[in-house]
Amino acid sequence: MSGATFDLVVENARIVYRDRILTGKIGIRDGKIAKLLRQDEEAAADRTIDAEGRYVLPGLIDSHVHFRTPGYEHKENWHSASKAAAAGGITTVLDMPNTNPYTDTADRLRQKSALVQGQSYVDYGFHIGVVPGKAEALQKLKRGEAASIKLFLTGHRTAKHIIDDEAELDYIFRLAADKAIPLTLHAEDDFVLRLFRQSSGEPSNLTEYESVYPRIGAITAVARALRFVRKYGTAVHVLHVSSAEEAELLDAAAEAGYPVTYETTAHQLWFDHASALELGTKAKLSPAIREPRDRDRLWQSIARGTLTSVGSDHAPHSKAEKSFDFHDAPPGLPGVQELLPVLLTGLKRYLPSLTREERLLTVAKLLAAGPAARFGLDQQKGSIEVGLDADLLIVDDEKKWTFTEAHVRSGSGWSAYEGVELEGEALVTIVRGQVVYDHGQFGEEIGQPVSLRRETPDVFARTAGSPYGVLV
Ligand SMILES: [Zn+2]
Repeated sequence: MSGATFDLVVENARIVYRDRILTGKIGIRDGKIAKLLRQDEEAAADRTIDAEGRYVLPGLIDSHVHFRTPGYEHKENWHSASKAAAAGGITTVLDMPNTNPYTDTADRLRQKSALVQGQSYVDYGFHIGVVPGKAEALQKLKRGEAASIKLFLTGHRTAKHIIDDEAELDYIFRLAADKAIPLTLHAEDDFVLRLFRQSSGEPSNLTEYESVYPRIGAITAVARALRFVRKYGTAVHVLHVSSAEEAELLDAAAEAGYPVTYETTAHQLWFDHASALELGTKAKLSPAIREPRDRDRLWQSIARGTLTSVGSDHAPHSKAEKSFDFHDAPPGLPGVQELLPVLLTGLKRYLPSLTREERLLTVAKLLAAGPAARFGLDQQKGSIEVGLDADLLIVDDEKKWTFTEAHVRSGSGWSAYEGVELEGEALVTIVRGQVVYDHGQFGEEIGQPVSLRRETPDVFARTAGSPYGVLV
Protein backbone atom coordinates (compact mmCIF):
# COMPACT_ATOMS: atom_id res chain seq x y z
CA MET A 1 0.00 0.00 0.00
CA SER A 2 1.52 3.31 -0.98
CA GLY A 3 0.91 6.27 1.26
CA ALA A 4 0.06 9.76 0.13
CA THR A 5 2.72 12.41 0.56
CA PHE A 6 2.03 15.10 3.09
CA ASP A 7 3.98 18.06 4.40
CA LEU A 8 3.04 17.09 7.94
CA VAL A 9 1.25 14.20 9.58
CA VAL A 10 -0.05 14.28 13.14
CA GLU A 11 -0.32 10.64 14.21
CA ASN A 12 -1.58 8.69 17.22
CA ALA A 13 -4.22 11.35 17.63
CA ARG A 14 -7.59 11.27 19.28
CA ILE A 15 -9.20 13.69 16.84
CA VAL A 16 -12.04 15.87 18.14
CA TYR A 17 -14.14 15.62 14.99
CA ARG A 18 -17.67 17.03 14.64
CA ASP A 19 -19.66 15.37 17.44
CA ARG A 20 -17.32 12.46 18.10
CA ILE A 21 -13.74 11.37 18.62
CA LEU A 22 -11.79 9.58 15.87
CA THR A 23 -8.52 7.76 16.39
CA GLY A 24 -5.94 8.15 13.67
CA LYS A 25 -3.78 10.57 11.71
CA ILE A 26 -4.25 13.99 10.17
CA GLY A 27 -2.48 14.53 6.84
CA ILE A 28 -1.62 18.14 6.04
CA ARG A 29 -0.61 19.56 2.69
CA ASP A 30 -0.11 23.21 1.68
CA GLY A 31 -1.40 24.42 5.02
CA LYS A 32 -4.72 22.59 4.66
CA ILE A 33 -6.11 19.42 6.14
CA ALA A 34 -5.67 17.04 3.20
CA LYS A 35 -6.86 13.74 4.65
CA LEU A 36 -7.98 12.01 7.83
CA LEU A 37 -6.43 8.55 8.02
CA ARG A 38 -6.76 5.47 10.19
CA GLN A 39 -3.78 4.87 12.43
CA ASP A 40 -2.81 1.77 10.41
CA GLU A 41 -2.80 3.63 7.09
CA GLU A 42 0.59 4.56 5.68
CA ALA A 43 1.26 8.24 5.23
CA ALA A 44 4.59 9.49 3.94
CA ALA A 45 5.36 12.94 5.21
CA ASP A 46 8.19 15.46 5.41
CA ARG A 47 7.52 15.74 9.11
CA THR A 48 5.57 13.64 11.58
CA ILE A 49 4.35 14.72 15.00
CA ASP A 50 3.39 11.95 17.41
CA ALA A 51 0.40 13.08 19.47
CA GLU A 52 1.03 10.09 21.78
CA GLY A 53 -2.65 9.30 22.06
CA ARG A 54 -3.61 12.78 23.20
CA TYR A 55 -6.65 14.69 22.00
CA VAL A 56 -6.23 16.94 18.98
CA LEU A 57 -8.65 19.83 18.84
CA PRO A 58 -9.33 22.26 16.01
CA GLY A 59 -7.18 25.36 16.56
CA LEU A 60 -9.04 27.60 18.99
CA ILE A 61 -10.64 30.91 18.01
CA ASP A 62 -10.80 33.72 20.54
CA SER A 63 -13.35 36.07 19.03
CA HIS A 64 -12.95 38.77 21.70
CA VAL A 65 -9.49 40.23 22.32
CA HIS A 66 -8.01 43.69 22.77
CA PHE A 67 -4.41 43.38 21.61
CA ARG A 68 -3.88 47.15 22.12
CA THR A 69 -2.27 47.83 18.75
CA PRO A 70 -2.06 50.62 17.77
CA GLY A 71 -1.92 53.21 20.49
CA TYR A 72 -1.73 51.32 23.78
CA GLU A 73 1.45 49.32 23.35
CA HIS A 74 2.55 50.17 26.89
CA LYS A 75 -0.21 47.79 28.05
CA GLU A 76 0.42 45.02 25.54
CA ASN A 77 1.69 44.62 21.99
CA TRP A 78 0.59 42.32 19.22
CA HIS A 79 3.74 40.23 19.33
CA SER A 80 3.48 39.34 23.03
CA ALA A 81 -0.31 39.01 22.94
CA SER A 82 -0.22 36.60 20.01
CA LYS A 83 2.54 34.68 21.77
CA ALA A 84 0.23 34.30 24.77
CA ALA A 85 -2.51 33.15 22.38
CA ALA A 86 -0.30 30.50 20.75
CA ALA A 87 0.81 29.24 24.19
CA GLY A 88 -2.88 28.89 25.06
CA GLY A 89 -3.74 26.80 21.98
CA ILE A 90 -5.40 29.68 20.15
CA THR A 91 -4.77 29.89 16.42
CA THR A 92 -7.08 32.78 15.46
CA VAL A 93 -8.06 35.98 17.24
CA LEU A 94 -10.65 38.62 16.41
CA ASP A 95 -9.50 41.98 17.75
CA MET A 96 -11.73 44.76 19.05
CA PRO A 97 -11.72 48.31 17.65
CA ASN A 98 -10.97 50.43 20.73
CA THR A 99 -7.40 51.18 19.76
CA ASN A 100 -5.90 54.61 19.10
CA PRO A 101 -6.71 55.63 16.42
CA TYR A 102 -10.11 54.01 16.76
CA THR A 103 -10.74 51.30 14.16
CA ASP A 104 -13.94 52.84 12.79
CA THR A 105 -13.46 52.78 9.00
CA ALA A 106 -12.52 50.16 6.43
CA ASP A 107 -9.29 52.12 5.80
CA ARG A 108 -8.37 51.88 9.47
CA LEU A 109 -9.05 48.14 9.38
CA ARG A 110 -6.58 47.80 6.51
CA GLN A 111 -4.03 49.97 8.34
CA LYS A 112 -4.29 47.84 11.47
CA SER A 113 -3.94 44.67 9.44
CA ALA A 114 -0.79 46.04 7.77
CA LEU A 115 0.65 47.01 11.15
CA VAL A 116 0.13 43.52 12.55
CA GLN A 117 1.66 41.72 9.57
CA GLY A 118 4.87 39.96 10.62
CA GLN A 119 4.14 40.48 14.34
CA SER A 120 1.64 37.70 14.89
CA TYR A 121 2.02 34.04 15.81
CA VAL A 122 -1.65 33.43 15.08
CA ASP A 123 -4.15 34.40 12.38
CA TYR A 124 -6.29 37.46 12.95
CA GLY A 125 -9.38 39.36 11.96
CA PHE A 126 -11.00 42.54 13.23
CA HIS A 127 -14.25 43.93 14.52
CA ILE A 128 -15.03 47.50 13.40
CA GLY A 129 -16.14 50.21 15.84
CA VAL A 130 -18.45 53.20 15.63
CA VAL A 131 -17.77 56.75 16.80
CA PRO A 132 -20.91 58.64 17.94
CA GLY A 133 -22.15 60.93 15.18
CA LYS A 134 -20.06 59.16 12.56
CA ALA A 135 -22.03 55.97 11.96
CA GLU A 136 -22.42 56.82 8.28
CA ALA A 137 -18.79 55.69 7.86
CA LEU A 138 -20.28 52.18 7.98
CA GLN A 139 -22.11 52.75 4.69
CA LYS A 140 -18.94 51.91 2.78
CA LEU A 141 -18.31 48.74 4.78
CA LYS A 142 -18.71 45.47 2.89
CA ARG A 143 -19.46 42.04 4.30
CA GLY A 144 -16.20 40.21 4.80
CA GLU A 145 -14.21 43.30 5.75
CA ALA A 146 -15.03 43.15 9.46
CA ALA A 147 -16.06 40.21 11.65
CA SER A 148 -18.75 42.39 13.21
CA ILE A 149 -19.71 45.95 14.04
CA LYS A 150 -18.88 46.42 17.72
CA LEU A 151 -20.99 48.82 19.75
CA PHE A 152 -20.14 50.00 23.23
CA LEU A 153 -23.52 50.86 24.77
CA THR A 154 -21.54 52.07 27.74
CA GLY A 155 -17.85 52.80 27.99
CA HIS A 156 -14.87 53.33 30.22
CA ARG A 157 -11.34 54.64 30.04
CA THR A 158 -10.19 52.53 27.10
CA ALA A 159 -13.63 52.47 25.44
CA LYS A 160 -14.58 56.09 25.06
CA HIS A 161 -17.03 56.00 22.15
CA ILE A 162 -20.44 55.23 23.60
CA ILE A 163 -23.42 54.70 21.29
CA ASP A 164 -26.52 55.58 23.31
CA ASP A 165 -28.59 57.86 21.07
CA GLU A 166 -31.88 56.20 20.07
CA ALA A 167 -31.86 57.43 16.46
CA GLU A 168 -28.24 56.43 15.98
CA LEU A 169 -28.87 52.95 17.37
CA ASP A 170 -31.86 52.63 15.05
CA TYR A 171 -29.67 53.61 12.09
CA ILE A 172 -26.90 51.15 12.98
CA PHE A 173 -29.20 48.19 13.68
CA ARG A 174 -30.94 48.75 10.32
CA LEU A 175 -27.67 49.19 8.44
CA ALA A 176 -26.17 46.04 9.97
CA ALA A 177 -29.29 44.07 9.04
CA ASP A 178 -29.20 45.40 5.46
CA LYS A 179 -25.54 44.45 5.08
CA ALA A 180 -25.97 41.11 6.93
CA ILE A 181 -23.06 41.98 9.22
CA PRO A 182 -23.54 40.92 12.85
CA LEU A 183 -23.42 43.42 15.67
CA THR A 184 -21.39 42.61 18.76
CA LEU A 185 -22.54 44.45 21.84
CA HIS A 186 -21.02 45.60 25.06
CA ALA A 187 -24.52 45.60 26.47
CA GLU A 188 -24.65 47.78 29.56
CA ASP A 189 -26.98 50.79 29.51
CA ASP A 190 -24.96 53.96 29.94
CA PHE A 191 -27.91 56.02 31.20
CA VAL A 192 -28.82 53.43 33.82
CA LEU A 193 -25.24 53.14 35.08
CA ARG A 194 -24.95 56.93 35.25
CA LEU A 195 -28.00 57.02 37.52
CA PHE A 196 -26.32 54.62 39.92
CA ARG A 197 -23.08 56.57 39.89
CA GLN A 198 -25.00 59.78 40.58
CA SER A 199 -26.82 58.28 43.54
CA SER A 200 -24.02 56.13 45.00
CA GLY A 201 -20.87 57.91 43.85
CA GLU A 202 -17.88 56.26 42.23
CA PRO A 203 -16.93 53.01 43.98
CA SER A 204 -13.68 53.04 45.95
CA ASN A 205 -13.26 49.26 46.23
CA LEU A 206 -14.46 46.04 44.66
CA THR A 207 -17.12 45.53 47.33
CA GLU A 208 -18.88 48.71 46.20
CA TYR A 209 -18.19 48.18 42.52
CA GLU A 210 -20.92 45.68 41.68
CA SER A 211 -23.60 47.80 43.33
CA VAL A 212 -22.58 50.86 41.30
CA TYR A 213 -22.30 48.83 38.06
CA PRO A 214 -25.19 46.47 38.77
CA ARG A 215 -26.80 43.74 36.74
CA ILE A 216 -29.77 45.92 35.90
CA GLY A 217 -27.51 47.98 33.64
CA ALA A 218 -26.75 44.88 31.59
CA ILE A 219 -30.30 43.52 31.64
CA THR A 220 -31.87 46.77 30.44
CA ALA A 221 -29.30 47.10 27.65
CA VAL A 222 -30.05 43.59 26.39
CA ALA A 223 -33.79 44.32 26.50
CA ARG A 224 -33.27 47.55 24.57
CA ALA A 225 -31.17 45.79 21.93
CA LEU A 226 -33.80 43.07 21.52
CA ARG A 227 -36.39 45.71 20.52
CA PHE A 228 -34.15 46.76 17.62
CA VAL A 229 -33.59 43.11 16.72
CA ARG A 230 -37.37 42.69 16.61
CA LYS A 231 -37.66 45.74 14.35
CA TYR A 232 -34.93 44.91 11.82
CA GLY A 233 -33.94 41.26 12.31
CA THR A 234 -30.36 42.34 12.98
CA ALA A 235 -28.01 39.48 13.93
CA VAL A 236 -26.65 40.29 17.37
CA HIS A 237 -23.97 38.61 19.48
CA VAL A 238 -24.01 39.91 23.06
CA LEU A 239 -20.55 39.93 24.60
CA HIS A 240 -19.42 39.01 28.10
CA VAL A 241 -22.87 38.14 29.45
CA SER A 242 -22.49 38.43 33.22
CA SER A 243 -25.89 37.80 34.76
CA ALA A 244 -28.46 35.02 34.93
CA GLU A 245 -31.15 37.42 33.73
CA GLU A 246 -29.31 38.32 30.51
CA ALA A 247 -28.92 34.62 29.76
CA GLU A 248 -32.65 34.08 30.43
CA LEU A 249 -33.61 36.95 28.14
CA LEU A 250 -31.30 35.88 25.34
CA ASP A 251 -32.33 32.23 25.55
CA ALA A 252 -35.99 33.30 25.37
CA ALA A 253 -35.30 35.56 22.38
CA ALA A 254 -33.40 32.83 20.53
CA GLU A 255 -36.16 30.35 21.33
CA ALA A 256 -38.64 32.83 19.85
CA GLY A 257 -36.65 32.88 16.63
CA TYR A 258 -34.65 36.09 16.91
CA PRO A 259 -31.12 35.89 15.47
CA VAL A 260 -29.35 36.51 18.78
CA THR A 261 -26.41 34.65 20.26
CA TYR A 262 -24.14 35.33 23.17
CA GLU A 263 -20.74 34.93 24.68
CA THR A 264 -19.50 34.82 28.20
CA THR A 265 -15.92 35.03 29.36
CA ALA A 266 -13.63 32.62 31.17
CA HIS A 267 -13.44 34.98 34.15
CA GLN A 268 -17.21 35.16 34.48
CA LEU A 269 -17.32 31.36 34.43
CA TRP A 270 -14.54 31.13 37.02
CA PHE A 271 -14.83 33.91 39.59
CA ASP A 272 -17.72 35.22 41.62
CA HIS A 273 -17.93 38.43 43.61
CA ALA A 274 -16.54 36.82 46.77
CA SER A 275 -13.62 35.01 45.11
CA ALA A 276 -12.76 38.12 43.09
CA LEU A 277 -12.47 40.31 46.19
CA GLU A 278 -8.95 39.18 47.05
CA LEU A 279 -7.80 40.23 43.55
CA GLY A 280 -8.69 43.89 44.11
CA THR A 281 -8.17 46.03 40.99
CA LYS A 282 -7.14 42.94 38.99
CA ALA A 283 -10.80 41.93 39.12
CA LYS A 284 -12.10 45.41 38.33
CA LEU A 285 -13.92 44.48 35.14
CA SER A 286 -16.53 45.88 32.83
CA PRO A 287 -19.07 44.34 33.25
CA ALA A 288 -18.54 43.41 36.89
CA ILE A 289 -18.11 39.87 38.21
CA ARG A 290 -21.42 38.87 39.82
CA GLU A 291 -22.80 36.18 42.13
CA PRO A 292 -22.50 32.38 42.24
CA ARG A 293 -26.03 32.04 40.86
CA ASP A 294 -24.99 34.00 37.77
CA ARG A 295 -21.94 31.83 37.24
CA ASP A 296 -24.11 28.73 37.67
CA ARG A 297 -26.59 30.00 35.11
CA LEU A 298 -23.82 30.66 32.58
CA TRP A 299 -22.58 27.07 33.02
CA GLN A 300 -26.20 25.99 32.45
CA SER A 301 -26.15 27.86 29.13
CA ILE A 302 -23.20 25.68 28.16
CA ALA A 303 -25.01 22.55 29.35
CA ARG A 304 -28.14 23.47 27.39
CA GLY A 305 -26.14 24.34 24.28
CA THR A 306 -27.41 27.92 24.16
CA LEU A 307 -24.05 29.61 24.62
CA THR A 308 -22.26 30.18 21.31
CA SER A 309 -18.77 31.17 22.42
CA VAL A 310 -16.47 31.84 25.33
CA GLY A 311 -14.15 34.78 24.79
CA SER A 312 -11.16 35.77 26.83
CA ASP A 313 -11.95 39.49 26.56
CA HIS A 314 -8.15 39.75 26.82
CA ALA A 315 -7.99 43.40 27.91
CA PRO A 316 -4.57 43.86 29.52
CA HIS A 317 -3.30 46.88 31.39
CA SER A 318 0.17 47.47 32.75
CA LYS A 319 0.93 46.48 36.33
CA ALA A 320 1.45 50.18 37.08
CA GLU A 321 -2.05 51.05 35.84
CA LYS A 322 -3.62 48.26 37.85
CA SER A 323 -1.74 49.56 40.93
CA PHE A 324 -3.56 52.90 40.79
CA ASP A 325 -6.21 53.71 43.38
CA PHE A 326 -9.34 51.65 42.78
CA HIS A 327 -11.12 54.61 41.19
CA ASP A 328 -8.30 55.26 38.70
CA ALA A 329 -7.41 51.64 37.85
CA PRO A 330 -8.78 50.76 34.39
CA PRO A 331 -11.13 47.76 34.00
CA GLY A 332 -9.93 44.60 32.23
CA LEU A 333 -7.57 41.66 32.58
CA PRO A 334 -5.37 39.55 30.29
CA GLY A 335 -6.81 36.11 29.54
CA VAL A 336 -6.03 34.79 26.07
CA GLN A 337 -3.45 32.33 27.41
CA GLU A 338 -5.65 31.18 30.30
CA LEU A 339 -8.87 30.69 28.27
CA LEU A 340 -8.48 26.99 27.44
CA PRO A 341 -7.24 25.66 30.81
CA VAL A 342 -9.82 27.72 32.72
CA LEU A 343 -12.64 26.41 30.54
CA LEU A 344 -11.42 22.79 30.77
CA THR A 345 -11.00 23.02 34.54
CA GLY A 346 -14.37 24.73 34.96
CA LEU A 347 -16.19 22.17 32.82
CA LYS A 348 -15.00 19.41 35.14
CA ARG A 349 -15.89 21.35 38.28
CA TYR A 350 -19.23 22.86 37.31
CA LEU A 351 -20.63 20.28 34.86
CA PRO A 352 -19.42 17.07 36.54
CA SER A 353 -21.89 14.88 34.64
CA LEU A 354 -20.04 15.48 31.36
CA THR A 355 -17.66 12.73 30.29
CA ARG A 356 -14.07 13.53 29.39
CA GLU A 357 -14.92 13.31 25.69
CA GLU A 358 -17.96 15.54 26.12
CA ARG A 359 -15.76 18.16 27.75
CA LEU A 360 -13.42 18.16 24.76
CA LEU A 361 -16.32 18.29 22.30
CA THR A 362 -17.75 21.20 24.27
CA VAL A 363 -14.45 23.07 24.12
CA ALA A 364 -14.31 22.51 20.35
CA LYS A 365 -17.80 23.98 20.00
CA LEU A 366 -17.36 27.00 22.27
CA LEU A 367 -13.81 27.90 21.25
CA ALA A 368 -13.77 26.86 17.59
CA ALA A 369 -16.91 25.83 15.67
CA GLY A 370 -19.21 28.28 17.49
CA PRO A 371 -17.24 31.48 16.91
CA ALA A 372 -16.24 30.31 13.39
CA ALA A 373 -19.88 29.95 12.35
CA ARG A 374 -20.92 33.14 14.12
CA PHE A 375 -18.36 35.34 12.43
CA GLY A 376 -18.23 33.77 8.96
CA LEU A 377 -14.95 31.90 9.36
CA ASP A 378 -16.35 28.40 9.05
CA GLN A 379 -15.37 27.90 5.41
CA GLN A 380 -11.74 28.31 6.51
CA LYS A 381 -11.45 27.46 10.20
CA GLY A 382 -13.14 26.08 13.30
CA SER A 383 -13.17 22.33 12.71
CA ILE A 384 -10.98 19.46 11.61
CA GLU A 385 -12.34 18.90 8.10
CA VAL A 386 -10.60 18.13 4.84
CA GLY A 387 -10.06 21.36 2.93
CA LEU A 388 -10.02 23.66 5.95
CA ASP A 389 -6.91 25.34 7.35
CA ALA A 390 -4.68 22.93 9.27
CA ASP A 391 -5.11 24.80 12.56
CA LEU A 392 -4.65 22.21 15.30
CA LEU A 393 -4.00 21.94 18.99
CA ILE A 394 -2.55 18.96 20.81
CA VAL A 395 -3.78 19.16 24.39
CA ASP A 396 -2.94 17.36 27.61
CA ASP A 397 -6.41 17.73 29.06
CA GLU A 398 -5.53 16.00 32.35
CA LYS A 399 -2.32 17.87 33.14
CA LYS A 400 -2.59 19.51 36.55
CA TRP A 401 -0.47 22.60 36.91
CA THR A 402 -0.40 25.88 38.78
CA PHE A 403 -0.43 29.06 36.74
CA THR A 404 2.30 31.44 37.95
CA GLU A 405 3.73 34.75 36.85
CA ALA A 406 6.56 32.81 35.14
CA HIS A 407 4.01 31.34 32.71
CA VAL A 408 2.68 34.73 31.62
CA ARG A 409 3.46 35.55 27.98
CA SER A 410 1.27 38.65 27.76
CA GLY A 411 3.25 41.88 27.69
CA SER A 412 1.21 43.06 30.67
CA GLY A 413 3.22 40.59 32.79
CA TRP A 414 0.46 39.50 35.17
CA SER A 415 -2.53 37.19 35.44
CA ALA A 416 -5.59 37.05 37.65
CA TYR A 417 -5.04 33.28 37.82
CA GLU A 418 -1.59 33.34 39.43
CA GLY A 419 -1.51 30.60 42.06
CA VAL A 420 -4.59 28.86 40.66
CA GLU A 421 -4.36 25.12 40.00
CA LEU A 422 -5.64 24.34 36.51
CA GLU A 423 -6.25 21.09 34.66
CA GLY A 424 -5.43 20.97 30.97
CA GLU A 425 -2.60 22.48 28.99
CA ALA A 426 -1.88 23.25 25.34
CA LEU A 427 1.18 21.24 24.22
CA VAL A 428 1.52 21.97 20.51
CA THR A 429 -0.22 24.71 18.51
CA ILE A 430 -0.27 24.49 14.71
CA VAL A 431 -1.37 27.33 12.41
CA ARG A 432 -1.99 26.35 8.76
CA GLY A 433 0.33 23.37 9.12
CA GLN A 434 3.15 25.30 10.81
CA VAL A 435 4.09 24.72 14.44
CA VAL A 436 3.94 28.07 16.27
CA TYR A 437 4.14 26.64 19.80
CA ASP A 438 5.66 23.37 21.01
CA HIS A 439 6.12 22.64 24.73
CA GLY A 440 7.28 26.15 25.63
CA GLN A 441 9.16 26.85 22.37
CA PHE A 442 7.82 29.26 19.77
CA GLY A 443 7.98 29.10 15.98
CA GLU A 444 7.77 32.02 13.57
CA GLU A 445 5.37 34.96 13.44
CA ILE A 446 3.47 33.52 10.47
CA GLY A 447 -0.01 34.85 11.32
CA GLN A 448 -2.13 36.07 8.39
CA PRO A 449 -5.45 37.88 8.07
CA VAL A 450 -8.41 35.53 7.98
CA SER A 451 -10.85 35.59 5.07
CA LEU A 452 -14.37 36.19 6.28
CA ARG A 453 -17.38 34.98 4.33
CA ARG A 454 -18.61 37.59 1.85
CA GLU A 455 -21.88 35.85 1.03
CA THR A 456 -24.84 36.13 3.37
CA PRO A 457 -24.55 33.59 6.18
CA ASP A 458 -26.83 30.61 6.15
CA VAL A 459 -26.52 29.22 9.67
CA PHE A 460 -27.68 32.28 11.53
CA ALA A 461 -29.99 33.69 8.89
CA ARG A 462 -32.23 30.65 9.22
CA THR A 463 -31.49 29.35 12.68
CA ALA A 464 -31.73 31.46 15.76
CA GLY A 465 -29.54 30.81 18.73
CA SER A 466 -26.69 28.42 19.04
CA PRO A 467 -26.42 25.79 16.33
CA TYR A 468 -25.79 23.10 18.92
CA GLY A 469 -28.07 20.67 20.61
CA VAL A 470 -28.44 19.85 24.25
CA LEU A 471 -25.44 18.17 25.86
CA VAL A 472 -26.76 17.18 29.26
ZN1 LIG B 1 -13.86 43.53 25.46
